[in-house]
Amino acid sequence: MIDLDTFRQQAREWTLSMVPEFGREARRGLTDEEDLALGRRYMAKKYEAGFAGVHMPEEFGGRGLTGLHKLAFDQEEMPHGFPSGYFGISLGMPIPIIMKFCEDKAWVRERVVAALKGEEIWCQLFSEPSGGSDLAGLRMKAEEDGNGWKLNGQKLWTSHAHIADYGIIVARSDPTVPKHKGLTYFWVDMHAEGVTCKPFKLLDKEVVCNEVFFDDVKLTDGQRIGPVGGGFGVAMATLMIERYVAGDADGFGPTIPFFVDFAREVEVNGRPAIEDGRIRSAIARNFALRNGLNSIRDRAFLMMEAGMEPGPEGSLSKLISVRSRQKLSELAIDLKGSEGLAYDPEATSKEDWVASWLSVPTGRIAGGADEMLLNTIAERILGLPQDHRPDKGVPFNQIPA
Ligand SMILES: Cc1cc2nc3c(=O)[nH]c(=O)nc-3n(C[C@H](O)[C@H](O)[C@H](O)COP(=O)(O)OP(=O)(O)OC[C@H]3O[C@@H](n4cnc5c(N)ncnc54)[C@H](O)[C@@H]3O)c2cc1C
Repeated sequence: MIDLDTFRQQAREWTLSMVPEFGREARRGLTDEEDLALGRRYMAKKYEAGFAGVHMPEEFGGRGLTGLHKLAFDQEEMPHGFPSGYFGISLGMPIPIIMKFCEDKAWVRERVVAALKGEEIWCQLFSEPSGGSDLAGLRMKAEEDGNGWKLNGQKLWTSHAHIADYGIIVARSDPTVPKHKGLTYFWVDMHAEGVTCKPFKLLDKEVVCNEVFFDDVKLTDGQRIGPVGGGFGVAMATLMIERYVAGDADGFGPTIPFFVDFAREVEVNGRPAIEDGRIRSAIARNFALRNGLNSIRDRAFLMMEAGMEPGPEGSLSKLISVRSRQKLSELAIDLKGSEGLAYDPEATSKEDWVASWLSVPTGRIAGGADEMLLNTIAERILGLPQDHRPDKGVPFNQIPA
């Protein structure tokens, strides 16, 4: 297997060679459709170059390297602002889940390769108006009709649903048992009759999320993932992957070196801000926090490679990294004074403090709100008593709504 340093060097050279065609500057002024088309071309090039699916098994079209190789590639790729965000959820959660749970391996391979090349996109349809933090409280109905299943209900917040070809979904197949036990997990065709997506804009103007309506959408039993009534377990396996795969110690915002460069340029009391003790202390604190998270993540990848399950400490990652990003973004905006309020609609949250600050609140909700992560840390890491759960063991259809 190629050693990590050589691989990183190759990744660095390849990503740098892609900057003129696909980097941040090349994307300026593109419409959403043009940007997505550019993203698909970038993914195809990445696949050709052998940098797609770095740690996915070769039998499914991946490169068969380790999670640390994937991290090395991600670290080289991230600074350039390539249009790869459309494919993050798709390759992050749904694809690993179908690889793990779906039995028709030839079909899975086709999907994985198409997703790696950017030809197909998957979304994750978990949250609903009444089932976000409390995922097991969801109300989307899955009814067996002798010929398969029929889905009725609404999902909310689904990222990229309007450009997705497939989705993974959890629905209630039995309302007469306690809420965690009556759920079943499926994959769905997003182009099927009865599926309607309504995209909406976020505060930073990004159109990422959707309301998705299902009206009598028919599924075969072959679309079921895991046992009937076993959907909550598969959903937990998905969220476990999400906690690690979707993590970034910079909280998907500007890096510490980016802040250091900024603090050299901006002034406090007529001196470069970097010379101010309070600024230096903020840098040191956030540097330490983010490096701690990186160590936890690296350990988790090594554990997964050794066939072990990483622990609940993945919950720390998003909680700490997004708060750290929020604090540094606020500080940067304060340091810029009145200029700090200037808004560039084309800027991205990796390279612009205002864009970063505006998109932070959704980061503190998406993939598990702060309070839920605190609950996980309290109960599963610190061993504190469980949150009050009055609906525990009560059949779902007897819980007051
Ligand atoms: C940008 C973005 C993208 C998203 N993408 C997806 C996606 O692709 N797929 C998907 O399925 N979902 C997605 N989500 C949904 C996301 O997972 C949910 O928004 C999140 O889990 C919170 O659920 P909720 O919105 O229903 O809030 P609620 O669960 O209603 O929570 C409201 C508030 O109450 C607090 N709260 C709730 N329960 C407790 C408790 N027991 N103890 C203490 N506090 C509590 C919460 O922390 C929060 O502050 C996305 C959300 C965002 C913002």
